Amino acid sequence: MEQFGAGELVSVLLPLPLAGAYDYRVPEDWEVRAVYPGNFVNVPLGKRHLIGVVLGKGEGAVDNARLKDIVSIVDVPAMTEDLRQLIDWIAAYTLSAPGAVLRMAMSAPGIFETPKPRTGYHLAGPPPERMTEARSRVINVLIDGPPRSKSDLAAAAGVGVGVVSGLVSAGTLEPVELLEPLLPKPDAETPGPELSGDQAAAAQALVAAVAASKFQATLLDGVTGAGKTEVYFEAIAKTIRMGKQALVLVPEIALTLQWLKRFEQRFGVAPAEWHSDLRSSQRRRTWRAVSQGEVPVVVGARSGLFLPFPDLGLIVVDEEHETSFKQEEGVIYHARDMAVVRAMKAEIPVVLASATPSLETLANIDAGRYQELLLPERHGGASLPRISAVDMRKHTPPSGKWLSKPLLTELEKNLEAGEQSMLFLNRRGYAPLTLCRSCGHRLECPHCAAWLVEHRRAGRLMCHHCGFASTLPDACPECESEANFAACGPGVERLAEEVAELFPEARMAVMASDTISSPSAAAELVRQMAEHEIDILIGTQIVAKGHHFPGLTLVGVIDADLGLNGGDLRAAERTWQVLSQVAGRAGRAEKPGRVLLQTYLPEHPVMKTLMAADRDGFVAQEKAARREHGMPPYARLAGIIVSGENEREVAATAQKLGRSAPRSNDVTVLGPAPAPLNILRGRYRHRLLLRARRGVDVQSTLRKWLSQSSHSNHVRIQVDIDPVSFF
Ligand code: ADP
Ligand code: ZN
Ligand code: ZN
Repeated sequence: MEQFGAGELVSVLLPLPLAGAYDYRVPEDWEVRAVYPGNFVNVPLGKRHLIGVVLGKGEGAVDNARLKDIVSIVDVPAMTEDLRQLIDWIAAYTLSAPGAVLRMAMSAPGIFETPKPRTGYHLAGPPPERMTEARSRVINVLIDGPPRSKSDLAAAAGVGVGVVSGLVSAGTLEPVELLEPLLPKPDAETPGPELSGDQAAAAQALVAAVAASKFQATLLDGVTGAGKTEVYFEAIAKTIRMGKQALVLVPEIALTLQWLKRFEQRFGVAPAEWHSDLRSSQRRRTWRAVSQGEVPVVVGARSGLFLPFPDLGLIVVDEEHETSFKQEEGVIYHARDMAVVRAMKAEIPVVLASATPSLETLANIDAGRYQELLLPERHGGASLPRISAVDMRKHTPPSGKWLSKPLLTELEKNLEAGEQSMLFLNRRGYAPLTLCRSCGHRLECPHCAAWLVEHRRAGRLMCHHCGFASTLPDACPECESEANFAACGPGVERLAEEVAELFPEARMAVMASDTISSPSAAAELVRQMAEHEIDILIGTQIVAKGHHFPGLTLVGVIDADLGLNGGDLRAAERTWQVLSQVAGRAGRAEKPGRVLLQTYLPEHPVMKTLMAADRDGFVAQEKAARREHGMPPYARLAGIIVSGENEREVAATAQKLGRSAPRSNDVTVLGPAPAPLNILRGRYRHRLLLRARRGVDVQSTLRKWLSQSSHSNHVRIQVDIDPVSFF
């Protein structure tokens, strides 16, 4: 391996948003220590010290007088080559500074601090001269227990910390260093459930891919409830048996408690978790343990992609079609796609699992880039739910009500039969719009071009874009007439009100990201639902996500057309996905499920193919439409978002970009135009959209274009490659 000795120059990448790599020198007096690529090193920058990563040989571009020495090598394993390559690749692909990407890979606070040894106390000296009841309780805890910290001891004995300190002063207790408990290892030897023929064939193919230790992207494509999880567990088991590490990316870690339980049942222990809700001590410990190869399996959110696995053997991206894999701020990247890149760099297999794969992934299969494994049937012979439409033009509910007669009838039947129902409405809060009855004024966010959404339970109006919250004003800000507001449209809270009036005896719960205070609260709701302590569950899209509710037999979709309104390029695809996922919650056990879609567009291809359970038909139509309009996955897009506090400056910059835009047979630029959400967090936003034929080097086209145009420091230009959102 390349190495650098005393006096040599190395190039060091620092985790700073705008940075490329800088040269530093290995100190002249480091005769016995060499520096290797990937080493984390402490270096001076201005007046501070920062930790960066050694990339390789220095450029020699800095003159000798200004060249600084490396201060020290940090005592953690070097960053592996595949991860360094991934960082480079993402930076180039997303047009971000490598330093900004590195920052994501080092984002765990304090990962480099040597863990502080914790002090515990054990019995060592003679009993204290003055023995009290409290003191003897502490001593009893230690007689047959391991050493503990002062606070743990006090808690276990039910005394104040002062009592413990007293025993330390008396010499009865003595300090010892507490060792970090090792993370328990999953057991891959206990066999899983007996797999069906299709499941076994798919599992075998994945196990073979893990054994081959080569890059291979595979779509594990199976209807909801087909046993995809059981199948990729076999691949994870193989990875563990080979002594390698597996990473499972999931769209929303807070909702994966059922998944975690299943993992624990299969492998005996919970996997390591990686997400932003972890305490920093947990993050530090997990990061280190991963880097030392001590953690065989990590389940995580997007950022798990940047963990320092020394011996990664498998990546799984569960629910690969989920848009939450796209990070929309800072470095804008798609974690599913970057997982494929990491697998390529690490030369390992990656498994994408979904019942409703993205068109991008399906196109990759058509092109022969990915392989496909099919699980066409639900496990145990459970049938897929029957989906039908309620034509809302014929069954319009009375004003201020949202449940149609046919859905009401089904709900009643289900309650009488003692079966569970779920109502899906993808809108948080009570009402999406509040207006003044006297003058028609709409209550808007002061920082965004968006309406405020009433959350009646919390007693607040909230902006779903920036988080602004206020109470309902006493008077209309426009005409000053008093407390004369009307709630317009439904949210889940309002729907719950309607259901409670109709079925006061039913046990009902609401599940939305803002009504659930914590992952454990979510888990509790999921448990109550799974154990039939709830008759009617009302929820937003978080109820659609992978839960297994064996007693659920009826799903009602309140507004099946909601997602089609936005009109962005993936509106139909996303509506199809979310509706099939919600529908897929029903009838997962013995009793068959049924699904009612309330729609004003029963003739729409999305509704028709859903009712016919004709995924292939939908996909074929959607592919044809995308081809015809020259849209992804058959073309490439890049969004350019110009934003700033001064509207004129923003508009002028966007206009200027528009005038200098590249245009050819292969590249078109649409816009500029004010963004649909044209003010966000007090910043004006204009957008341009570059569309290119596949095969065009979009990045260099963009780089050339954007580097030519100068703009004020107050205006920000963001590039969003392969955009998922267009607001
Ligand atoms: P998917 O991930 O495709 O939605 P799951 O893996 O969650 O499907 O499987 C659905 C349910 O069926 C789960 O409760 C799972 O434990 C069960 N299951 C699937 N395959 C088997 C099998 N071969 N033996 C026993 N139970 C199975
Ligand atoms: Zn008014
Ligand atoms: Zn706002």
